Amino acid sequence: MKLSVKINLNPSSEQHILLLETMRLFNKTCNTISQTAFHNQTFGKWSIQKLIYHDLRKTTSIPAQLLIRAIAVVCGSYKAEKKKMHWFKETSSIPYDTRLRTFHKSESVSLRLWNQRITVPIILGQYQAHRLNGVKLSETGESDLIYDRIQNRFYLVITFDQPETPTQQSSKVLGLDLGIKFLVADSDGAIYTGAQVEQTRNRYAELRKRLQAHNSKASYRHLKKLSGKEHRYCKDIDHCLSKQIVQKAKGTGRSLALEELKGIRDQLGRRPERKRVPVLGNSAPLSVEKPRKHVRKSVRTLINKWSFSQLRLFIAYKAKIAGVRVFVVPAYYSSQTCNVCGHVSKSNRISRDNFRCKNCGHAEHADINAAKVISQRASVNRPTASGVGLTFTRMPYRARCKPTDLSVGR
Ligand SMILES: [Zn+2]
Repeated sequence: MKLSVKINLNPSSEQHILLLETMRLFNKTCNTISQTAFHNQTFGKWSIQKLIYHDLRKTTSIPAQLLIRAIAVVCGSYKAEKKKMHWFKETSSIPYDTRLRTFHKSESVSLRLWNQRITVPIILGQYQAHRLNGVKLSETGESDLIYDRIQNRFYLVITFDQPETPTQQSSKVLGLDLGIKFLVADSDGAIYTGAQVEQTRNRYAELRKRLQAHNSKASYRHLKKLSGKEHRYCKDIDHCLSKQIVQKAKGTGRSLALEELKGIRDQLGRRPERKRVPVLGNSAPLSVEKPRKHVRKSVRTLINKWSFSQLRLFIAYKAKIAGVRVFVVPAYYSSQTCNVCGHVSKSNRISRDNFRCKNCGHAEHADINAAKVISQRASVNRPTASGVGLTFTRMPYRARCKPTDLSVGR
């Protein structure tokens, strides 16, 4: 599978200026190409090259290979959307292919700039060194030169092939319930969240509220900074959690099972799409809004803040590297289903955290019960599964359909 690692460049101050100049020139060229491509409605690589290459070589100081990359960037960008003209920010990334970039061991990299080639020292952190262990940098493909405006630093994002560990075929499954209050509960009865995480999240929410109320230039600046900080905090938590979970599954020789969570935001948090219905004889369109389920604002904020998809993605890719299989099972009624007798009822869930089955009286933490149900759903359709021995007679039909493998990467 393809993985990418961001490495830190350590240019001298002159090199820093040159790198910035190259970036600006590259993106300015992209904008010129984009305009020509859009006005001529020509989006193919070769046709754009024919149209503009010689002119740009004469009128600008951009080197041939960088110009070819700029054309490729513009083409790639128009592949997704051709209806409007695309603009590139002056510090958008530059793709550096092997002709433009040469690694000297893992100490420095030589980069082609607008007027010359420079050798920039690279700094590998502990994580980068670990990830790139055994990877020949000279054999990696295209990498992106990126600029972080806030930190005023340049980075190189290297993409490389990570050999996959053969997936272990296991009949045992560790079920995971991703939640809002408790980030993850597993079918072993472990809950992965700390009071500290909860506290930090609340602290950020409080601070954000106060800053938003203040509504000044300084508070806006602070808010922006806070958003970055919070984002990095969430990412770090997701990395740590997913690592821990995957290691647990690998260590105990089990597969993982996750709920299908498509549309959780639509179900709970996000405002439903407005339907515009034109009314005859009235020029103003009438907006019809579907009634939405009432969910407390604090919960909506949390759902939208916490990135479930990121945690799932991290679990998926770390599992793939470790050779742990990940199943995705349907999510219907998992929080209302008893993992002992299979009874489904809304009244089984007596409170946010407590589950007590109306049929058999089984009582457990609600999230752990859900994780067990998820684990059983992944096992139930597989003949090799043992020790499940449960009936799902009352489970809705859709919930009985087959679990699927979670796919990740290219
Ligand atoms: Zn029960």
